[in-house]
Amino acid sequence: MRRGKRPGWMLKIGKERIDILFRMAEDEFQANPQRSHRYTEIARNISKKYRIRMPRKWRRRFCKKCYRFLRPGANCTVRVTGGRVIFRWLECGHIMRFPYTEEKKEKRRNKIESYTNKKGTDEQIPVSTHNKCGESRGERKPY
Ligand SMILES: [Zn+2]
Repeated sequence: MRRGKRPGWMLKIGKERIDILFRMAEDEFQANPQRSHRYTEIARNISKKYRIRMPRKWRRRFCKKCYRFLRPGANCTVRVTGGRVIFRWLECGHIMRFPYTEEKKEKRRNKIESYTNKKGTDEQIPVSTHNKCGESRGERKPY
C-alpha cells in the first residue's frame, strides 16, 4: 500500500468532520469560546492527519498562529483596504491579509452555482454575511 495517499472515502469523512467541528465551534462560541477553540484544534488535527486542506469557507475562521476559532466582530476585526482584506486577531495580535480578488472569485462562483442574484454586491465580505440557515445551500461539490 502506498503511504501518504489516503483513499477517497476517508478524505470525504475527514472533510465532513472538519465541517461539523467548525459548525459546532460556531454554535458554541458565544456561550463557550474555549470549547470552540478546542473544536478548531481537533479540526486542525484531522486536516493534518488526512492531509486535507481546510475548506475554503472555514479557512479564515481560525487563527493561523494560535489556532483559535474566530468570529469577525467578536475576537477579530476585518478591514478592506487597497484591494486586500485584512484580518486582525484581537487575542494574539496576528494579522492575515488576503487578496480581495479571492472574494470576487468566490462571489462569481456563488453566482454560477445559484443562477440568481445579479446585483453588484462585490463590496460585501462573505464571512460577515454568513448565516446558520443557509449553510448547506449550494455547498455540495463532488470531490
Ligand atoms: Zn492567534
